[in-house]
Amino acid sequence: MVSKRMLELGTARSVIRELFEYGNQRAAVVGRENVFDFSLGNPSVPAPAPVNETAVRILREQPEQIHGYTSAPGDAAARQRFADSLNRRFGADYKASQFYLTAGAAAALCCVFHGLTCPGDEFIVFAPYFPEYKVFIQGAGAKMVLIPPETENFQIDFDAFQAALTPQTKGVVINTPNNPSGAVYTRPTLERLAAILTQKSSEYGHPIYLISDEPYREIVFQGFEVSWVPHLYRDTIVCYSFSKSLSLPGERLGYVLVPGDVTDSEQVYAAVAGAGRSLGYVNAPSLFQQVTSLCCDMTSDLAVYESNCKLFVSALREMGYRVPQPGGAFYLFPQSLEPDDVAFSERAKTRFDLLLVPGSGFGAPGYVRIAYCVQPEVIQRALPKFKALAESYQ
Ligand code: PLP
Repeated sequence: MVSKRMLELGTARSVIRELFEYGNQRAAVVGRENVFDFSLGNPSVPAPAPVNETAVRILREQPEQIHGYTSAPGDAAARQRFADSLNRRFGADYKASQFYLTAGAAAALCCVFHGLTCPGDEFIVFAPYFPEYKVFIQGAGAKMVLIPPETENFQIDFDAFQAALTPQTKGVVINTPNNPSGAVYTRPTLERLAAILTQKSSEYGHPIYLISDEPYREIVFQGFEVSWVPHLYRDTIVCYSFSKSLSLPGERLGYVLVPGDVTDSEQVYAAVAGAGRSLGYVNAPSLFQQVTSLCCDMTSDLAVYESNCKLFVSALREMGYRVPQPGGAFYLFPQSLEPDDVAFSERAKTRFDLLLVPGSGFGAPGYVRIAYCVQPEVIQRALPKFKALAESYQ
């Protein structure tokens, strides 16, 4: 006998993984170059050279120590470097003791949801959303309340949001720049969100925490601004990752930051650490605590994402696709050319070898996600397929 819920999670079909597997099988038949896999959010640019150099230097200089345990929340010097970096960038005053280092943003989010959840608590999530939020929130014993997408610009449907707030709302999750839409919340959007949360926190007599999931913080395009959310709303808890900014998803390094201004911040931090302990998420990978903290003021060469985006958006629009303008990350979220996004994705796959992820899994039926973290020539070669796909609907 095993846990029914865990069995379900462990055996459920993952649409993205299935597309990926299909791509591999199909590549064996028609050749890798003839399958256009836009399913996965794996960075396509290498980590900056100093990342590898730093790793090699540390391995040479500290061959034993670097493979040892660090303190559970992470090495103090590494945490201090993360604090110093954010303090320089955002004029803040964070302390090493406010950082809890984790194996990526995924573990950071799990620590936060587990750390905050009391019986009956709810977390509000805005569609389109990263589907693992549901797994993480439910895994912590809380309820996820989904707000339908605002499809004009993928900002926030504030009427639906206000209607969903209840005294059980423990937190609200935002992800900007967004996976899957690429949308960046504007400052007015964030200010309005903050004003509502402030008012409702006071009405309910308890804080509503804003959990800002920021793996794409650094991937932002010209004309867009990614605001530093803790400056706009006091009860913000930041979950960060170096998976995308330094192209290190396999090395698993991220953090939770509980700023000192957060209501009951020391208690919240201790609960996050306690959640880390109870989940076994202690001592994030030691080598990459050092490497990322020594390289956290740099990024991979992210320019290709913006040029890929421009190329894709203008070409697809010319073909008649409706493509909302992304402001960052490396995803496009066009409307599917028929209302059923699953059928559309299936047609793209079976007739044109285009692997696009249906939007329904992100809470936004009628759209598909294109991960354009690929070489530009892949996009160039894929465009005639997108054209043929569009023509197949005429
Ligand atoms: N949050 C969002 C929105 C993501 O897109 C991802 C990964 O793609 C994660 C969290 C998890 O990131 P990590 O690799 O750091 O665990």
